[in-house]
Amino acid sequence: MSKDGKELLLGAVDFPASGFLGTQGPRRETFRIAIEPAALGVADGPGKLTLSVRDRSWRNWGHGNLTQVEKEVVVDTRPPVIEMFTQQNYLTLGGAGIAVYRLSEACPVSGVRVGATFYPGFSGYYTDRAVHIAFLAIAHDLPAGAPITLEATDAAGNASRVRFPHLLRRKAFKKDRLAISDGFIKQILPGLQHLVPASASGSLKESFLYINRDQRRIDYDAIIAAAQAIQPAMLWQGPFTRLPNAAPRAGFADRRSYVYEGVEIDQQDHMGVDLASLANSPVPAANAGVVAAAGFIGIYGQTVILDHGFGLFSMYSHLSQITAKPGDRLNKDEVLGYTGTTGLAGGDHLHFSILVHTTFVDPVEWWDPHWIRDNITLKLNAVAAPRAGR
Ligand SMILES: [Zn+2]
Repeated sequence: MSKDGKELLLGAVDFPASGFLGTQGPRRETFRIAIEPAALGVADGPGKLTLSVRDRSWRNWGHGNLTQVEKEVVVDTRPPVIEMFTQQNYLTLGGAGIAVYRLSEACPVSGVRVGATFYPGFSGYYTDRAVHIAFLAIAHDLPAGAPITLEATDAAGNASRVRFPHLLRRKAFKKDRLAISDGFIKQILPGLQHLVPASASGSLKESFLYINRDQRRIDYDAIIAAAQAIQPAMLWQGPFTRLPNAAPRAGFADRRSYVYEGVEIDQQDHMGVDLASLANSPVPAANAGVVAAAGFIGIYGQTVILDHGFGLFSMYSHLSQITAKPGDRLNKDEVLGYTGTTGLAGGDHLHFSILVHTTFVDPVEWWDPHWIRDNITLKLNAVAAPRAGR
């Protein structure tokens, strides 16, 4: 390695000649060389690695033929420094938040870890590419005391981690009892029967359980798969639109117990808000975004998923009709479909969800102009850095 005018020999291997004329040797070798910059007295910064191989030819007065391969390297022993701008964070169980931070060097990975879930951060909101934003979610079932940290790892693998300062308000979610009758199952089954494997369709109850339990999991995976492609820009502005003139029918994270013939047969959490208006009501895009998915998603029926950028998504389910297609760029309040009863729905309503990456969060926060202002807008504006163009 050559570094700062010094030449350092990191390692050398000599292979004994073998074969009839002493001409055979290994064709392929793998070496692991641990380079300890401190022990070598090497400072951080650019340098050059040279691999030299000499054969046993008698040419060049017995010195053999020499081949050299050079590679530019950067010695980096310092972890990135994280400068956190968002110092006051009031978070609620089932809610969301934002972290704004500057990194001292480019990092392939940075973001917020909440318990076991990582919420990646992105640059691009500000012209200064070192300033990142990360939306984060406090899952409704996050264990008490779960740590929340801001993390960054540079290209050399040096990692930094700082505590994400916050106050977390825990809350209890509503409990709900749903009586499941044969009549209800017969009503929803025609649109979902094709999803139920023969082994699980022995009885109405079995079919229902498969749909409510196994299909729900399959559908979650499909939703998360659709939420992988992330627009690297903040496409939205201001509070999200709630379906107009709609009555709430079920809340976010309601713990539902399903009762069949007087016996509880299942429990599921309701990860959205049910809103009922007139049948076939037009459904407006809650905010500007790009359609990430539009089509049938199991128990959610005809569904649209809108990507609002940087990992924030809204989802519209049980639609009777979809009028948007994947890739469409929608303005706030642009109609994307009409309410209906597709999927696992007893009557005409909109199931509305907000997702932060892989976690469903309470839509109520995103409908609230005060929450948006205090928890998102003011935090983004507090950073004295010019914003990138939209
Ligand atoms: Zn629902």
